[in-house]
Amino acid sequence: MIYLDANATTPPDPEVVEAMLPWLGARFGNPSASHAGGRAARRAVEAARFQVAALLGAEPEEIIFTSGGTESINSVHLFARQEWPDRPVLVIGAAEHAAVIESARRWRKSGGEVRHVPVNSQGVMQPDALRAALAPGRAALVSLLWANNETGVIAPMRELVETAHAAGAPVHADAVQAAGKMPLDLRAVPVDYLSLSGHKMHAPQGVGALYASRRAAFRPLLVGGGQERGMRSGTENVPGIAAFGKAAELARARLPAAIPRMRDLRDLLEQRILAALPDAVIHGRDADRLPNTSSIRLPAADAAGMLILLDQKGIACSGGSACHSGALHPSHVLEAMGFDAAHAAGTLRFSLSHLTTREEIETAAGLVIQAAEKIRALKDEASGEVIGV
Ligand code: PLP
Repeated sequence: MIYLDANATTPPDPEVVEAMLPWLGARFGNPSASHAGGRAARRAVEAARFQVAALLGAEPEEIIFTSGGTESINSVHLFARQEWPDRPVLVIGAAEHAAVIESARRWRKSGGEVRHVPVNSQGVMQPDALRAALAPGRAALVSLLWANNETGVIAPMRELVETAHAAGAPVHADAVQAAGKMPLDLRAVPVDYLSLSGHKMHAPQGVGALYASRRAAFRPLLVGGGQERGMRSGTENVPGIAAFGKAAELARARLPAAIPRMRDLRDLLEQRILAALPDAVIHGRDADRLPNTSSIRLPAADAAGMLILLDQKGIACSGGSACHSGALHPSHVLEAMGFDAAHAAGTLRFSLSHLTTREEIETAAGLVIQAAEKIRALKDEASGEVIGV
């Protein structure tokens, strides 16, 4: 299989698996236990906290381990809603992930107000657009996607944070896709809260983190045994946390070489496809984009058919439409950028990792072009028949 779906989930790194294994076997202690086994598990959790903090330029005590991006996002939203009932507004982007969209829906159901900030045709949110949506003194939280999961488009987060802070609103950044694919330094971009997910950076699924700045208030979603300094109760997922820590350390070390490498391969894929299919549209091409992501609309192709053909050839990628309860909906991300449903229905997303090879990209480009041409020919044939009748 040629795996080009790293934004959905990444293959676990062998070094990460190695770091996790002892905690699944003989070293099974509960980090809250006072005996040697417990203390060893505690040290593993604290070492991982250090590794994750280093990836962000944060302090270890600002990291709270969670079950993943979705939990982290929901925790911050619910906290802000409960903490500041006199500030009923939640501001989110028009191209957020479902975790933010659904959590915002709940915010509205609880009697709050949700304001959506538009993005431009390249998928970029402009600080002026955010400024226009801010309700000074009334916004409890601004929740923004740092890098888009569908297009890879990167938000100008420093300017957006300055804009929100100028209006007195704290900022949560969904950095689930950004982490490990671009440098993140929270000393330079002072977000108040930030969400991370292990399985997008070569750790296993079901572990993540919430960064809550020392400057920012936070109270937990989950209460109970008081783990994570009372900020997230529940016995820690020690194997997952140890793996996540290792993945963060590797991502940080790997980043300087991985960024240009992934970008070169992603650009090669796009060049090959554009050379054969000049009508193809690359979304967010003129914007700052993650180096690993390519969202491409292939003319005349329908993504559902393409995905079947490519899967048969051993290529894993995804469509530009999301499947909710069995029905295909056009991507709200592409819609926010001004594209219609038909455009979205011909869109595929390819997302690489540092493990992707040039050979894989060469093969994949050829197969994508072949599949798109096949679908175009079938469509031409079908419309010819119709005309013939
Ligand atoms: N935010 C973004 C941008 C994502 O891409 C994802 C996962 O697809 C999430 C949040 C949710 O993360 P998790 O799968 O860890 O709950």
